[in-house]
Amino acid sequence: MPDHTISDRALHILQTIFGYPSFRGQQADIVQHVAQGGDALVLMPTGGGKSLCYQIPALLRDGVGVVVSPLIALMQDQVDALAEVGVRAAFLNSTQSFDEAMQTERRVRRGEIDLVYVAPERLMTSRCLELLESSKIALFAIDEAHCVSQWGHDFRPEYMKLSVLHERFPDVPRIALTATADPQTRAEIAHNLQLDDAPQFVSSFDRPNIRYQIVEKMNARKQVLDFIRDEHPGDAGIVYCLSRKKVEETAEFLNANGIPALPYHAGMDMQVRSANQARFLREEALVMVATIAFGMGIDKPDVRFVAHLDLPKSIEGYYQETGRAGRDGAPADAWMAYGLQDVVQQRRMIDESEAGDTYKRIQTAKLDAMLGLCETLNCRRVRLLDYFGQPSGPCGNCDICISPPVSFDGTVKMQKLLSSIYRVEQRFGAGHVIDVLRGVESDKVKQWRHDKLSTFGVGSDASEAEWRAIVRQAIALGLIEVDHDSYGALKLTDQARPVLRGEQKVQLREYQKPARQKRQAVKPKGYVESELSRTEQAIFEKLRWWRVETARKHNVPAYVIFHDATMREIAKAKPGSLNDLRNISGVGEKKLETYGEEIVAVIAGMS
Ligand code: ADP
Ligand code: ZN
Repeated sequence: MPDHTISDRALHILQTIFGYPSFRGQQADIVQHVAQGGDALVLMPTGGGKSLCYQIPALLRDGVGVVVSPLIALMQDQVDALAEVGVRAAFLNSTQSFDEAMQTERRVRRGEIDLVYVAPERLMTSRCLELLESSKIALFAIDEAHCVSQWGHDFRPEYMKLSVLHERFPDVPRIALTATADPQTRAEIAHNLQLDDAPQFVSSFDRPNIRYQIVEKMNARKQVLDFIRDEHPGDAGIVYCLSRKKVEETAEFLNANGIPALPYHAGMDMQVRSANQARFLREEALVMVATIAFGMGIDKPDVRFVAHLDLPKSIEGYYQETGRAGRDGAPADAWMAYGLQDVVQQRRMIDESEAGDTYKRIQTAKLDAMLGLCETLNCRRVRLLDYFGQPSGPCGNCDICISPPVSFDGTVKMQKLLSSIYRVEQRFGAGHVIDVLRGVESDKVKQWRHDKLSTFGVGSDASEAEWRAIVRQAIALGLIEVDHDSYGALKLTDQARPVLRGEQKVQLREYQKPARQKRQAVKPKGYVESELSRTEQAIFEKLRWWRVETARKHNVPAYVIFHDATMREIAKAKPGSLNDLRNISGVGEKKLETYGEEIVAVIAGMS
């Protein structure tokens, strides 16, 4: 039986405190279930709105909501954001002084706090457990719950101990949340946190506002510069690179070319690193060039693009990293440059790792799935969602849907490639094989007398780039593999045989020379862009300035004050009074009280 008083009260909190008109997706059900004391496992994509799923029940129930999170660096911002809407929040972690911790503990004990964020290793101390035993607890929220999974990509041993919560506090509801969707991780979370009997709330993993685009890598730095200049001037974004050195070089290159950029990788001094992160969060138009060490839990809502200069190891990684774009729901881009060299490099990394065979096999399977995504002839989103077990139809908002590749019967071309690889005894890399195909009389070709082979020059009708594209597709189709031991030599797999014998046809993608493309005017499905008139744009700009100033005064990131989407609505509605302002999504009572007068004054000053 749904408890109407609870759902009414939840909606009231959503509207008056958080300033949003309605719940999204399954939020209402989750809030109701947890507020009534139920356990839950919540799977929602990044930006889906997980926080409210535990924040509102914590406010509805007596006592303090305890949020377990590994993201110590973000706790301050989370607490600040809650303070902005008038929720009493605090944190306990190793960055604060003993006195500060004492004070928080005292407030928790006295019931003066609605939400307290705690690092898992802190929670497990006897001091902290005693504190919680002597306080009234509304719920436990276990954020980033995939950290308890050994299968996943971010296992943290201290998460395993969280099953104590169930034993020590059997009557307190627990809600575990994650954006990692695959069934194996989900099962491990349920099992390791003893949530086997808890209902699972699984949301759609689609992020319709993100446009996926994968281009052929030529000169990646130049390509990403063009991409930012053409499509995202003045926007905040993240550029991922594999190595620390490449991070440094790319950041320097972007800066030298007028794009303000900061580096971030694990080899940097801790202080510089966190200073860069803080700047990225607080300033409006910075590009963060980073290794994957950057980004877990980054909840900056207005990241407009995520670019990959190197191939991620898996679709899980790719989806998580690209998911950091467009959390505010406005259009955003996931852009990647990928080439043959990436495949060779990733294969080598797997092979050279110290890990056991099972692990290597899993990693290889994951990389293969990633390659399949890169070389697909069909909608990228369909492929991505399918990987997470969610069926869907062509999206209209990926490069393949926008300009579908033309496919052709590439059986003969593929046979030429495969037999060339065979003729050079499967001992040479792509560069040499392609030289032989195209009849290039390089020193190496002459040295090995490969100009005498029957396949020499049989592929002279196609360019080197075209042949590279065919090699990549052959790898993605599983016809050939790259041998990591012998300098990236191409080898035939068993699957090559029927193709060579002419028993099996191969569809290939017609080669298109990569061209610098201006953004096409295609809007993501279901997204209604609030086009601003000239006056409204001016108001919006004015509000942005006001927000920069205010954020500096309060020492919080700008988006903690108001999101762009909220400010855009304000610019359109031009509220003349506090009451008008109250109706805008993202304006709750506390913000109305704190900023209402100033906003109304900004608007009045413009007319
Ligand atoms: P997650 O933790 O799932 O990545 P968040 O909880 O940070 O996502 O929410 C993402 C963004 O969506 C936040 O800016 C949040 O304020 C906004 N949001 C969440 N729920 C709603 C809602 N019901 N209506 C409007 N905005 C919402
Ligand atoms: Zn598509």
